[in-house]
Amino acid sequence: MGFKTPRSAVTLMNVYDFDVLVIGSGPGGQKAAIAAAKLGRRVAIIERRDMIGGVCLNTGTIPSKTLREAVLYLTGLDQREMYGQSYRVKDEITIADLAARTQHVVGREIDVVRSQLSRNRVTILTGTGSFVDPHLVEVDDGAGRSRSASADKIVIATGTRPARPASVDFDDRAVIDSDGINNLEKVPRSMVVAGAGVIGIEYASMFAALGTKVTVVEQRDRMLEFCDVEVVEALKYHLRDLAVTFRFGETVASVESRPEGAIATLSSGKKIPADTVMYSAGRQGMSDNLRLGAAGLAADARGRIVVDEFFRTTVPHIYAVGDVIGFPALAATSMEQGRLAAHHACGEPLHAFGQLQPIGIYSIPEISFIGRTEEELTGENVPFEVGISRYRELARGQIIGDSYGVLKLLVSLEDRTLLGVHVFGTGATELVHIGQAVMGCGGTVDYLVDAVFNYPTLAESYKVAALDATNKMREIARFA
Ligand code: FAD
Repeated sequence: MGFKTPRSAVTLMNVYDFDVLVIGSGPGGQKAAIAAAKLGRRVAIIERRDMIGGVCLNTGTIPSKTLREAVLYLTGLDQREMYGQSYRVKDEITIADLAARTQHVVGREIDVVRSQLSRNRVTILTGTGSFVDPHLVEVDDGAGRSRSASADKIVIATGTRPARPASVDFDDRAVIDSDGINNLEKVPRSMVVAGAGVIGIEYASMFAALGTKVTVVEQRDRMLEFCDVEVVEALKYHLRDLAVTFRFGETVASVESRPEGAIATLSSGKKIPADTVMYSAGRQGMSDNLRLGAAGLAADARGRIVVDEFFRTTVPHIYAVGDVIGFPALAATSMEQGRLAAHHACGEPLHAFGQLQPIGIYSIPEISFIGRTEEELTGENVPFEVGISRYRELARGQIIGDSYGVLKLLVSLEDRTLLGVHVFGTGATELVHIGQAVMGCGGTVDYLVDAVFNYPTLAESYKVAALDATNKMREIARFA
């Protein structure tokens, strides 16, 4: 680490086809490939036909976030405080209406990814990669042709696929996993979502907004337990208001497909008929097709590959990044892991992966946070004060018709630094980054008290919450 090898020297020394070979072109693989190319390395990326951009671009993040945007626009949901509960942009929203926006965005994004790879001279090898030995990968194009490519360094970025419990008879029509959402033929009138994880809750809120009668079944007693408890309560309140039914502490015991849909039977004996049952039961690492054994590697039962702090596997010249290494399994973190792995592989000086990572949940309304929760801090006996700002008390909140949004700062009573920022409501996933910047630079609540924000903005909520926290802290000091 800490040195740079000139490109010419690398090429002369090289006995391999490529300096860096990346398997998988999702966010982790893309950023690894481009970072290595920017450092002057000869890079190739292996990807299956029609999957450039990975799960992120083709079936996961981008289609789901575009669908959410289409739902918000066409239902007019976020304008109803202003124009009344009957406000709609379109009365009969069809799958074609929703798909049009998704296809447009996905098409454009694929173009962007292809163009970035080509202008950085990253070779695209089309097919499925599997190890022949620790430096050699065979690429099978699925049409009976294969080639092999060798490399000095290899980055595995093969992601995940939806886990499919053996007990469930998926028919990809009425009984689907989260990928199946992209192939629905009509907007279901009713839907059972099995699993209240991030993906399950995001889709539950989108379909509830479309008027689908949604039932969420979750075996645990609560959902999104890594988030702020009050924020999750607020989300549940909003979803119930959209006619979502929650069945906590229950499991789907069986699902039977019927011509008109499917019927889910819970272990308590309850039966829920629905047009669609969507399983969102976690994800399985895509490592079974890699022939890891040939490289001296292995994966765990969920297909995940273990790495060290620089994303090196147990075979030091082979790296793994993104969802295939497990938590937090986000596009955002995968990109950074890819970049860091490439820099490490190319001998660039680098920092270890930061601990301070934001979490964004694109439910309706959306949630985002960074740092610790009240529950965690209390559990660890860390003294803190809470500063709250409600959108309805901000001019911008009134203008956009968001009366429920809230921003919460958790401030250390010891050194006045921010320990956590939790946002619920419009723009939460953008707003959180102001808090991230302050926390990342070690700033205190006093910075936010003194800062002047554009007016009227939602960003102003930082100042309001900071004033709330410092007023409470002053009161503590006065009594003490
Ligand atoms: P992936 O995007 O998983 O892509 C891996 C690629 O590797 C695939 O294209 C696959 O074809 C390819 N591959 C697999 N095996 C091989 C092989 N042997 N040879 C060649 N290629 C192979 N994250 C966020 O940050 N924000 C969100 O809002 C968000 N929403 C999501 C919504 C849904 C419905 C889903 C499913 C996920 C969402 N995520 C979100 C998670 C995000 O999509 C993933 O974290 C991200 O895509 C992981 O990136 P990755 O680099 O690991 O690869």
